[in-house]
Amino acid sequence: MRKEEILEKLPTPCYVVDEAALIHNLEILKSVREKTDCHILLAQKAYSCYRTYPLIAQYLSGTTASGLFEAKLAHEEMGNRQIHVFSPAYKDADFDELLKICDHIVFNSFSQWRHFREKALAHPEIQFGLRINPGYSEIETKIYDPCAENSRLGITLENFMENELDGISGLHFHTMCEQGADTLERTLEVVEKKFGKYIRKMKWLNFGGGHHISKDGYDTEKLIGMVRRIKEEYGVQVYIEPGEAVAINAGFLVTTVLDLTENGMELAIVDTSAACHMPDVLEMPYRPFILGSGEAGEKKYTYRLGGPTCLAGDIIGDYSFDEPLSVGDKLIFTDMAMYSMVKNNTFNGMPLPDIYLLKADGTTDLIKKFGYEDFKSRL
Ligand SMILES: *Cc1c(COP(=O)(O)O)cnc(C)c1O
Repeated sequence: MRKEEILEKLPTPCYVVDEAALIHNLEILKSVREKTDCHILLAQKAYSCYRTYPLIAQYLSGTTASGLFEAKLAHEEMGNRQIHVFSPAYKDADFDELLKICDHIVFNSFSQWRHFREKALAHPEIQFGLRINPGYSEIETKIYDPCAENSRLGITLENFMENELDGISGLHFHTMCEQGADTLERTLEVVEKKFGKYIRKMKWLNFGGGHHISKDGYDTEKLIGMVRRIKEEYGVQVYIEPGEAVAINAGFLVTTVLDLTENGMELAIVDTSAACHMPDVLEMPYRPFILGSGEAGEKKYTYRLGGPTCLAGDIIGDYSFDEPLSVGDKLIFTDMAMYSMVKNNTFNGMPLPDIYLLKADGTTDLIKKFGYEDFKSRL
């Protein structure tokens, strides 16, 4: 059966994780790991569908977490792999828990490092790091730019305390978003110029996420060259912690057309919501692709697709099709594994989409079904 036919049989709305596509991405990441002997970690912020963690564990060195919950999830579901954590600020109670399950803990400021230093140093089995802000990024969307003016993320060179590095074994920067190896090259130039003499004192340097490594056209050889050079020149281990590159193009969101109306143009209401089920469509913003569709006006029948919420702006985008849509038709959004399940919500009493796994052998497995209780229990 064709992939589309399998997906169209599932009850909607549902996310479907595509195991074969995930493996494709993981193979690419693993080859970078093997060619450079660096460590690659899954950034769980982008993708936390833990049913696939045992699979991911076969390819990557472990995970990174944004706080206690993600760290716990990795601890419970990924078994014996590395767990890194970075948070802009830790709470005392959380930190005690993190000390039990993490092997790398990264601080966002010298004041946080000072606050937790004594507790930290009682754990020689854990490595501690600092996030730096090199003040250089090529991200144009402001809410995704950690180097924007007055950013709270990372320590700038002006605020870097050379004499407080005792107990710190690594530096971390995260300044990229969906970018190529050429952006990393220009970023490293600034990082090295500003922080190079501190990197020399470290055991590791973490390049953060935002590397589009498994996307077509990414210059993997260039990345490999840079990782090798940094390792050699500074005598450090290198970590990379992509989210997107693990889960890019590795999932779908299947929806059903509920109604067709007209107001200056053809409108279609579907049983999935941009605001609730794919919030990046509104936040980023971007237009997700639908299998078999074209840009507005490209094919014969154009529709504006909107969700079933009361939010006027809950619009997914304008799409054209070869045949007119009918109520009951299934539409399949692509690239819906990342920043979707981890960000969705039940605004307007919207149901959460179920989660399926499309296995490499073509069969599907229900991972999780959601219902009314999931809405009620959060309120
Ligand atoms: C978001 C984030 C990542 C992952 O970024 P991707 O763009 O999904 O690769 C990694 N590290 C940190 C610190 C992040 O905030």
